[in-house]
Amino acid sequence: ECHNQLVRLRGNIRVLTRVRPITDEDGTGPGAQNVVTFDPDDDGILHVTHKGKSMSFEMDKVFTQSATQEQVFTEVSPLITSCLDGYSVCILAYGQTGSGKTYSMEGPHANPGINQRALRLLLSEVSKRSDSWEHHLSVSMTEIYNESLRDLLGADNNASLDIKMSPGSTGELYVPGLTQQSVHSIQDINKILEFGHKQRATEHTNLNTHSSRSHALLILTARGRETSTGICTTGKLYLVDLAGSERVSRSGAAGERLREAQCINRSLSALGDVFSALRCNQAHIPYRNSKLTYLLQEPLSRDGKALLLLQVSPAERNVSESLCSLRFGDRVR
Ligand code: ADP
Ligand code: MG
Repeated sequence: ECHNQLVRLRGNIRVLTRVRPITDEDGTGPGAQNVVTFDPDDDGILHVTHKGKSMSFEMDKVFTQSATQEQVFTEVSPLITSCLDGYSVCILAYGQTGSGKTYSMEGPHANPGINQRALRLLLSEVSKRSDSWEHHLSVSMTEIYNESLRDLLGADNNASLDIKMSPGSTGELYVPGLTQQSVHSIQDINKILEFGHKQRATEHTNLNTHSSRSHALLILTARGRETSTGICTTGKLYLVDLAGSERVSRSGAAGERLREAQCINRSLSALGDVFSALRCNQAHIPYRNSKLTYLLQEPLSRDGKALLLLQVSPAERNVSESLCSLRFGDRVR
């Protein structure tokens, strides 16, 4: 464990919490009761009532049930546009299955989430800066399931891809075989997102079940060149809908379910270990313990910027998982 007198890495890791509304799936009765309350004077505080006790958590910002997709996006948009300045940045949606990760990242068709809004914003920013900069945007979509990485935009999406480090001093990470689609228009954005979504959906009879057990990543690469100086930048944006963080009981799971659960536990705890190491300013950051952290090592470095979006269900029946998610956030801040 680290001590507070060490220099803490604040500023490049932010933790936001979004509480979803009670839905029909929360059922009725005491289990459907709302156990989350907010502080009227401080939008960084959230309280959870459990077994008659009230616990408080402090985040960089808390979004209540009534927060809109637009409000959440406004909060994260400076981070998103910084990829045009050459930063590697990531947004990670974390929480148990059903807590609203996909709602925040993908969103319903009529009310899109961060992914689509981010690509649209970058497209318009690039055109605003076009007097002095040329930017090229390209997008990849990938999924990590059972520690295996798959392309979602290619013709062959069954191959398991490797993550490599390019030779030379810059040491850029790349994934040979991962399709990159250029983005020039809003139509391109819609086509790419739809295609990637379809690739995932057609392979699995139950997309919800599958997506709760795999990590979905949208990776945008922004290559820029300042026209007057010829200076080049490469920035990356990683938008990640993580696998469900719920603990699977070891006794109940067997075979394939058990393997899935072990892979999820491994990658999410590897993620927590990376955050802890960064927070404690450790010299060695353990990226290599999972595909997820290895792929995300640029944004999850001291030169990158990361934002953890903790998704929380307000229902009493989910309270122990909600507390686990909030405590995961405490490891980071
Ligand atoms: P996850 O991806 O974490 O498993 P989902 O995003 O699928 O969870 O959300 C579970 C359910 O809750 C879905 O029916 C979704 O539409 C609904 N939901 C989640 N967040 C919100 C929100 N902020 N507003 C309205 N409905 C939401
Ligand atoms: Mg989901």
